[in-house]
Amino acid sequence: SRRLISPERQGDDADGSLRPQRLDDFIGQSAARANLKVFIEAAKGRGEALDHVLFVGPPGLGKTTLAQIMAKELGVNFRSTSGPVIAKAGDLAALLTNLEERDVLFIDEIHRLSPAVEEILYPAMEDFQLDLIIGEGPAARSVKIDLSKFTLVAATTRLGLLTTPLRDRFGIPVRLNFYTVEELEQIVVRGARIMNLPLKPDGAKEIARRARGTPRVAGRLLRRVRDFADVSGVAAVDRVIADEALSRLEVDSLGLDQLDRRYLDLIALSFGGGPVGIETIAAALSEPRDAIEDIVEPYLLQQGFLQRTPRGRLLTAHAFRHLGLAVPSAYSG
Ligand code: ADP
Repeated sequence: SRRLISPERQGDDADGSLRPQRLDDFIGQSAARANLKVFIEAAKGRGEALDHVLFVGPPGLGKTTLAQIMAKELGVNFRSTSGPVIAKAGDLAALLTNLEERDVLFIDEIHRLSPAVEEILYPAMEDFQLDLIIGEGPAARSVKIDLSKFTLVAATTRLGLLTTPLRDRFGIPVRLNFYTVEELEQIVVRGARIMNLPLKPDGAKEIARRARGTPRVAGRLLRRVRDFADVSGVAAVDRVIADEALSRLEVDSLGLDQLDRRYLDLIALSFGGGPVGIETIAAALSEPRDAIEDIVEPYLLQQGFLQRTPRGRLLTAHAFRHLGLAVPSAYSG
């Protein structure tokens, strides 16, 4: 892939060996984890299906992992699909009718469901019923099919992409945040242990600092650092080795990659720091607007490089400094 550290799913960790299996192995997101623990216990105690759960947050923060963990903790089956994959209402109907009592159905990228499929989902979520139209024209009739009481666990990168009626049908909305360096350090140490990679504490910290607040990126950087260590035959990965490997991958001291820097450079150099509209940025970078909004901007906003204003994106003085550029005089006030 062109973008090595992109947090998008790219078949890395394909065997899922780094995925935590239980809630107690899951590092970070402590508030969300504590709440889920209570809801899971309560649902299990009553022998009922857990209320529908919506995970919201940038790619690679653990939405799929948590969904799988929830099925395990509930002791039920886990069925998985994604918004763009469900082409027709019938596809979703087939999935729903195959669920057993209290099963977890995971729908990734739920904001990409077609309106026709979404229509089927509403009564399924609310009344555990399927309303189907059989036949066409005057002979058409509607049939209702009872479904098992299941739990829908859905994931989306941005809440604003969901229609209001769909959003309102989730009893348990959970927002996932970027991870702290300390949390990522624990994730990296755990990953190295699973991979049998000798990793010194300062090496783990260096990888964690540059993982863009994202476990998926941390896992990917760890694999690349391991390749680098294997080839150069070092006994253990320390800060120097990690830095050498990450610099080669063009991941900078704060974890920004090429696309992040192209984005910042563009606004700084071509637009004097902004404000500039997202469509203009997307066109100038030749990148899809969605990718910029889902992947690039959330981390830059969180790191204080960027502000969103009604007139467009605006760089902060901090961004100019990080790029090694003079802060424009308009910023001094
Ligand atoms: P999302 O669904 O939000 O895009 P995933 O659940 O697929 O993210 O997680 C991406 C990768 O990061 C997976 O390989 C997973 O093993 C790892 N991961 C995510 N969250 C954690 C965590 N809290 N601790 C350890 N590894 C994690």
